[in-house]
Amino acid sequence: MLSLPLYPDSPTERTRWILARRGPKNNHPPRQPYGSFVEDEPGPDGTLWRCHTLLLTNRECAFRCLMCDLWQDTLDTTTESGAIAAQVSTLLPSSPPNPGRRVALKLYNAGSFFDPGQVPVEDYAAIADKARHFDRVIVESHTAFLKGKLAERVLAFRDAIAPAALEVAIGLETVQEVALEKLNKRMTVDDFRHAAAFLAQNQIALRVFLLVRPPFLTEEEGVEWGCRSLDVAHACGATFAALLPTRAGNGALEALAEQGHYAPPKLQSLEACLRYGQSLEGMMRVTADLWDIEPFVKNDDDRACVARITELNHNRGRT
Ligand code: SF4
Repeated sequence: MLSLPLYPDSPTERTRWILARRGPKNNHPPRQPYGSFVEDEPGPDGTLWRCHTLLLTNRECAFRCLMCDLWQDTLDTTTESGAIAAQVSTLLPSSPPNPGRRVALKLYNAGSFFDPGQVPVEDYAAIADKARHFDRVIVESHTAFLKGKLAERVLAFRDAIAPAALEVAIGLETVQEVALEKLNKRMTVDDFRHAAAFLAQNQIALRVFLLVRPPFLTEEEGVEWGCRSLDVAHACGATFAALLPTRAGNGALEALAEQGHYAPPKLQSLEACLRYGQSLEGMMRVTADLWDIEPFVKNDDDRACVARITELNHNRGRT
């Protein structure tokens, strides 16, 4: 591990440090998604599913993670009642969009779907009216919203979208405890384990986002901890693990790079973690995120690596 003379130790100071390095946000209308796309993804039954993704415009996430750039497309104010329902209603057809083929809906909101300041609870019924026509609905959440009294919202939404199945995606990021703490995620590996158990007890599928080579790790440590993180996701019953190469672009990572505490991972490291994850026994699908991969591609070897990863991604997420 590298020493950190300039990156603060206390969570409060870290938050200040991260916020000070931000650029401006993008401007988005509050009742329109800021993005949408359709892609293929290996499904839980082994076939390629059609996945419709809506990138919801809502209030900024309550957390301030070091590597996060999702705040760029968020609002400063609490999401108004009806705004998320309006976004879902505008873009989704009211019947299954691909008859004869399994279809999933990702409602990604740059934070936690179950944070009522981001997605008003009173919008759940209208969202569910559209969402239940899909086979599976995937939302994101921090573990803070998956426990105690707060978790009742999760069960209410699960019941509202039936017969569609609910899947919750958690950004575990890494199980390297020191690096995870410095990411300012305000979550421990034990928090993740408890959230995973809650989801399993309530028949809710678990998706996990993992960073390959987060800040503060060397290239070799990045691969090693990527694999150990896959082990934990697998042991906790995750049905899907998405590997993300840690990307710069939010101001904070550029500052860390100048200090020598962050460098983007090699594509070969991403591939190594992907191959490891796909070699694990069981039903966990594993893919590597190739969105905006060009900055990682430096030569022909890298280009060939991207081609191999693309093939692995479509190979049902498993070898
Ligand atoms: S919890 Fe997720 S959305 Fe929120 S700041 Fe962290 S990475 Fe970003």
